[in-house]
Amino acid sequence: LGPTVCVGEILVEIVATTVGDGFLKAQPLVGPFASGAPAIFISQCGRLGGKAAMVGAVGDDDFGRVNTDRLKRDGVDVSTISIDPDYPTGSAFVRYRKDGSRDFVYNIATSAAARFGWSQAVGDLINRSGHLHVMGSALSVPSARAVIDKAVDIVKARGGTLSVDPNIRKELKLDEDTERRFSKLVAAADLLLPSGEELERAAGIEGEAEAIRRLFEMGVKEIVLKRGADGATYFGRQRDRIDAPAFVVQEVDPTGAGDCFGGAYLTCRRLGMSPQQALTYGSAAGARNVTVLGPMEGAGTRQELDAFIASTERRP
Ligand code: ADP
Repeated sequence: LGPTVCVGEILVEIVATTVGDGFLKAQPLVGPFASGAPAIFISQCGRLGGKAAMVGAVGDDDFGRVNTDRLKRDGVDVSTISIDPDYPTGSAFVRYRKDGSRDFVYNIATSAAARFGWSQAVGDLINRSGHLHVMGSALSVPSARAVIDKAVDIVKARGGTLSVDPNIRKELKLDEDTERRFSKLVAAADLLLPSGEELERAAGIEGEAEAIRRLFEMGVKEIVLKRGADGATYFGRQRDRIDAPAFVVQEVDPTGAGDCFGGAYLTCRRLGMSPQQALTYGSAAGARNVTVLGPMEGAGTRQELDAFIASTERRP
């Protein structure tokens, strides 16, 4: 079983400690926290003991070290994370509004995160990987997009599998080229992990049942729909369906829940667990992560998730 590989943006996140409207006034901030949706996903894979490797770039600075040290501790192979001597590690500043929505200030396009490419080491890794995970957000980073295009073809040709988290808001208009790549990627997915309205966005059709049917027609093999505090649902090609209620937790920071859920679900499936079991671990990983400040600070090991599952109520 070759490693699970994730390609994409690696960032630090700095979080406002107060709830309000934007960043116009000076306020206490906390961080840096290791972040970037692809990095959160692969961190959760590593923590659960799955073979995992990350492709991306950081700057030659402390923010980069925050990420590589963290992923190394989680058991992720970081040898294909390049260190850019000229550009800083990408960053995101986040502040929560009273209604729960978030304001972001990103520095990705002019950071190391947008400046990596194919290399001998990346080629060697992709040529022995068993699974590739792609986040839709990485498609808007041209460097990541080029690596992903090549990696998808190689992994699929070798009989490996692909999972895709659309990670794209419904309102977001993609240019024609990105839209085409996105549809191709969705159709090639063995496992699709949309959250909320991304399901309809990925299918290009309204209505949950219609979207599920369309996605299976497109070639998707397995779909897990994430519904935040309302839980998650597995859909199989045989029209089977499993609803997984969410665990009851006190939400402190919702960022990263879907990435932890996805990393845990995928790793459990690759380790041979049933969809039902994988849903339990995915739900636990997502729920545990929202109880801690920072996008991947609550990602759990197998032991931590087992303890969490044994001690936490699930919604009726
Ligand atoms: P995304 O971050 O991709 O939008 P979700 O917010 O749907 O994903 O979270 C993924 C999963 O994590 C959910 O399906 C659920 O199992 C779990 N989860 C997320 N938020 C909560 C919460 N507040 N309480 C309990 N479980 C949660």
